Amino acid sequence: MNILPEITTKTIAFKLRAKAERMIKKKHPWVFEDSIVKQSIDGNAGDVAVIYDHKKNKFLACGLYDPFSPIKIKMLHFGKATKIDSFFFKSKIQKAFEKRAELLKTDTNSYRLIYGEADGMPSFIADVYNNVLVIKLYSAIWFPYLNDLLTVLVEITSCKTVVLRLSRNVAKLKNNFGLKDGQVIYGKLDNNVVEFMEHGIHFSANVIYGHKTGYFLDHRENRRRVGSLSKHKTVLDVFSYAGGFSVHALANGAKEVTSLDISSQALKVAEQNAKLNKFSGVHKTIAADAFKGLQELINQKNKFDIVIIDPPSFAKSAKEIERAKHSYERLANLGCKLVNDNGILVLASCSSRIVADDFFAICESSLQNNSIQYKILDTTLHDLDHPVILSFPEGAYLKCRYYQFN
Ligand code: SAH
Repeated sequence: MNILPEITTKTIAFKLRAKAERMIKKKHPWVFEDSIVKQSIDGNAGDVAVIYDHKKNKFLACGLYDPFSPIKIKMLHFGKATKIDSFFFKSKIQKAFEKRAELLKTDTNSYRLIYGEADGMPSFIADVYNNVLVIKLYSAIWFPYLNDLLTVLVEITSCKTVVLRLSRNVAKLKNNFGLKDGQVIYGKLDNNVVEFMEHGIHFSANVIYGHKTGYFLDHRENRRRVGSLSKHKTVLDVFSYAGGFSVHALANGAKEVTSLDISSQALKVAEQNAKLNKFSGVHKTIAADAFKGLQELINQKNKFDIVIIDPPSFAKSAKEIERAKHSYERLANLGCKLVNDNGILVLASCSSRIVADDFFAICESSLQNNSIQYKILDTTLHDLDHPVILSFPEGAYLKCRYYQFN
């Protein structure tokens, strides 16, 4: 199994500014560069960073050192001193697996096993698609631990194959120990496109070239919900990607589903994914920019029973927030004109910088400006395999509301 490099690590002692120390006591998982007042020695990515109380010199917490990020320490453990070894990680992964137990009782074999900070492993994602595990690293801190983690992850998930994906930042680092984005680090991958189940619906993801790890598992419960509302209905799925919402709607008896995305390649995949299931409705696709495509549909006087708008993150940095808010407003404004009387508009946002209350307020003021009477059917956040923990509100990014028009 050991095709992975052996990398030795050392331990570095740190002291922090009072404010950062208070955050650590509240178990916040990040320490920024400007919070550090003392560092015992220089370090490499993945060295163990131990934080000591600046007055009493007592152990407070430990994490991994990241020289390449403004977040210099990514926390693993708070409270009593502990050894960071394979037993330590095994217990974290086991705990994470147990948290997903309810989901795994359903007809679903695709799930996020490790959701970074929320599962105590910052910048580390592990998604399972049937018997393929995809590890995505957002930081080089994990390279020294990959060997140990791989053994544990395979044991717990029983996956036959493990694929490594690297974020753009990590992929472009000078020394990645010979590891590449898309590398198969365990077992054999017969096909880049892996088939899996989501609440009884067949689906597939390209684990090598697909966005993130190949698919967006976070919306699983919303897709199930949309599916359950779709029988005999016409559905418009905007920013459809590989057809998550579209396929659930078709497989649940929708009369007609239109998938709209700027990427014609994503739409092709959406068509293929639909065909993995039995359905009798019509599947149409529109390759267009959403803003233009929606306006075009309005001009043609089209209406749908259900309209889902689930765009990519619009606010990737703080300076994009205002523009992002404006884009959400425009989408709600366009989307609501395409909903039939008594139809449903589903609006989602995955921008963590725009909090749920602000997003819903934007959507609702657009509906009010269009004189639409509506009832809120439901409000949802992440599915249970993307837990949100109190000490890390930054991990809450997904919000979605169902508006039933009167
Ligand atoms: N709803 C999907 C996930 C959406 S991901 C699901 O449930 O799986 C975001 C998608 O938006 C990508 O497929 C991307 O191609 C598409 N996209 C990005 N910018 C766009 C634009 N301006 N117009 C239409 N689609 C766009």
